[in-house]
Amino acid sequence: MSDYDVIVVGAGNAALAAANSAREQGAERVLVLEKAPEKDRGGNTHYSGGMLRVAYGQPEALRALVPDAEDELPGFFKDVPTYTEDEMMADLMRVTAGKTDQTLAKILISKSYETICWMHDYGGIPMEPAVSLSAIRVGNKLRWQKGAIVRALHEGVGLSNHWFKKSEENNITVRYGVGAVELLQNEDGAVVGVLANTGETLEEITAPAVILGCGGFEANAQMRAQYLGAPWDHAKVRGSAYNQGDGLRMALDLGALPWGQWSGRHSTPISNEWPDFADRERTDQSNRLSFPYSVMINREGKRFLDEGEDVGMYTYAKYGGRILQETGALAWQIFDQQTVDFLEPRYSTSDPITADTLAELVEQLDVDDKAQALRTLEDYNAAVPASGSNDGFDPTQKDGLSSKGLSPEKSNWATRLDQPPYLAYSATGGITFTFGALKIDEDARVIGTDWRPIKGLFACGEMVGGLFHINYPGGTGLTSGAVFGRIAGASAAHGADGPTAS
Ligand SMILES: Cc1cc2nc3c(=O)[nH]c(=O)nc-3n(C[C@H](O)[C@H](O)[C@H](O)COP(=O)(O)OP(=O)(O)OC[C@H]3O[C@@H](n4cnc5c(N)ncnc54)[C@H](O)[C@@H]3O)c2cc1C
Repeated sequence: MSDYDVIVVGAGNAALAAANSAREQGAERVLVLEKAPEKDRGGNTHYSGGMLRVAYGQPEALRALVPDAEDELPGFFKDVPTYTEDEMMADLMRVTAGKTDQTLAKILISKSYETICWMHDYGGIPMEPAVSLSAIRVGNKLRWQKGAIVRALHEGVGLSNHWFKKSEENNITVRYGVGAVELLQNEDGAVVGVLANTGETLEEITAPAVILGCGGFEANAQMRAQYLGAPWDHAKVRGSAYNQGDGLRMALDLGALPWGQWSGRHSTPISNEWPDFADRERTDQSNRLSFPYSVMINREGKRFLDEGEDVGMYTYAKYGGRILQETGALAWQIFDQQTVDFLEPRYSTSDPITADTLAELVEQLDVDDKAQALRTLEDYNAAVPASGSNDGFDPTQKDGLSSKGLSPEKSNWATRLDQPPYLAYSATGGITFTFGALKIDEDARVIGTDWRPIKGLFACGEMVGGLFHINYPGGTGLTSGAVFGRIAGASAAHGADGPTAS
């Protein structure tokens, strides 16, 4: 007899959704292996903003998740825009240049609402409106971005803690500081357990179903260099130090099919003052995502991207990478008093460089060509409307207020820098997670290079390849983790072949 019914490798959102789903679906003995010690548990999920992108249709549907929203935010259910499954698909298609895996994308989107309700109702995860991430106050009114409206209460820390609480209630065994190092197979090729490193010994633990939910290779400099290329080996890591690509390596070793964009990654503009690995207390406060209202320059003193290409939720995950490619992996985001009110609260974790003139500001910046930097800002100012000219600036949506004659242009929110004092915040590219992973089927079974499911092996979360390419719509990682984690748990509870086996 096997030691357990289901072994889950990892203890982030996807893995714990899988473990609890397996229990719900009848698996009696479920083991979770967490490579990190208890004090560092929870993977990237702990560091996350807890934001959940959901195709909820009408805003009233969100009442099931945030029933008290109106108490704090009068008019909430009227102010929030609709967000249909078609809109979520259009967003995913647009930001991935049409490359998202259609089968997985349809499952993700069609099950997003019911799964987040399941997290709330079955998982016991309280939620709240994501005001600081998703809403902008204009006068007395909050204007919301579509789709990513709700987050876990107390963000990733709350999400992670509530999953562990539910796991305890479900009598799931969690072993901390025990990492899977190899998958065990029987003579038929079925996965029947793992070899685990307890720190003192290597131990064989058996089960007819193993679920991999142990993240990507974002924290592994060698794999980043190998798959993403230079300068990704130098990127600062926004989340867990434990996602070293172990699960991917173990699965590829026994013939799993690599899937999705292996050179792709989620990477955001973060403060350049942050350490090389994220700070567990300050979690995701490193983000510097109000760049659409800024002018961004590099060390050569030049602009290098369209800060206003789209609302930040649809560009933030690729612009970290763009900054990382610049000299010294450094950029400066420059604001004036016209836009400073729209800075996310996270900016308060840095002290900006300030000055009353652009020349004085540039003088203080770590840029190699200060004369060029000043010219860039003056050229930018000459190419955009004067402030106060009734220009139609609208921070809540793409406003079409663009520069004329620059390369690159700033397509939206191109306000003139002429309201001192001016502020400059540093930014570099921080890596969040990697896109290349494994091919799974509708039942979250891992597919082999022979295009057949590998018996007994399931995957979820960052270990699912194919959904994200080039870019990513904010709030989709946790939703994907929950959707495919829940499916993987149910499949594993039904045994090595999953639910569709005859
Ligand atoms: C700063 C930050 C902010 C973010 N904000 C958001 C957000 O607001 N919304 C959103 O949707 N997404 C967000 N993300 C992305 C999101 O956090 C991830 O997509 C998601 O948490 C991935 O979940 P996961 O369960 O696949 O992996 P993780 O949560 O990273 O969990 C992986 C687990 O596997 C364990 N592990 C690794 N190797 C082994 C091994 N060999 N054996 C055993 N265990 C192992 C790790 O210790 C960890 O417990 C953010 C990420 C970061 C870093």
